[in-house]
Amino acid sequence: MTQASVPAQAGVPAQAGAGPMVRAEQVHKSFGSIEVLKGIDLEVRAGEVCCLLGPSGSGKSTFLRCINHLEKINAGRIWVDGDLIGYRERGGKLHEMREKEVAAQRQAIGMVFQRFNLFPHKTALENVTEAPLLVRREKRAEVRDRAVALLERVGLGDKMSNYPSQLSGGQQQRVAIARALAMQPKLMLFDEPTSALDPELVGEVLDVMKDLARDGMTMIVVTHEIGFAREVGDSLVFIDGGVVVEHGNPREVIANPQHDRTKAFLAKVL
Ligand code: ADP
Ligand code: MG
Repeated sequence: MTQASVPAQAGVPAQAGAGPMVRAEQVHKSFGSIEVLKGIDLEVRAGEVCCLLGPSGSGKSTFLRCINHLEKINAGRIWVDGDLIGYRERGGKLHEMREKEVAAQRQAIGMVFQRFNLFPHKTALENVTEAPLLVRREKRAEVRDRAVALLERVGLGDKMSNYPSQLSGGQQQRVAIARALAMQPKLMLFDEPTSALDPELVGEVLDVMKDLARDGMTMIVVTHEIGFAREVGDSLVFIDGGVVVEHGNPREVIANPQHDRTKAFLAKVL
């Protein structure tokens, strides 16, 4: 891709430096005595679309939540664009960051959930302008212009004054994507963004995600949409039992899975 020569579009940051956008090293996470993540290693390059697949309960959501420190990891490290998430390293030791510092790191990471979680009493436009205005205290006119551009980009230029209840599930999810982009993240995390949608609304959300991918956004996408993984994914990571079982080119992994667990899973979802 020739990203450097493409004019910057609303919500899509310039490409980062040489290192990976995301690096996870031996990430462990337990809830009580149950170890959910048992040493996850993963690297995602800037501009890469990484699709995360795995059975229910395998730790996909937990891993995404660890990336933006919504969950504290018990061991290992995660870097986003070179920043160690949630901790500072001093004298070879890790010290937990204060909540304010974590919040600043989180601003660089957009997240879209299965349930859209829009503010019900705010219009589509207000949902998109909320965080830049309140969290970042940016100028109202600039925030508004950016929000309008983002809503147009996700195909909702004519729905900006609608409340969530006046929008379909697919439209609400597209507002949620625009809302995440309004903070100009370096990285977007999607947790089963189409799983709660009626089948006929899935395509419009995937199209917006494809557009973002084409534009060079780094994305980690938990999804059961094998077609999306095959067509748009640069990498496919299959997680089972809290470990990465298989990691490779989506087309190759889907056509020729190497591990029995991957084969069994793909046989169910294909
Ligand atoms: P997936 O997204 O792959 O379906 P999750 O990451 O949601 O899996 O969950 C992995 C495991 O961790 C499940 O057994 C789930 O019950 C457990 N789990 C997730 N969040 C919590 C929590 N806050 N407290 C206790 N257990 C949790
Ligand atoms: Mg999940």
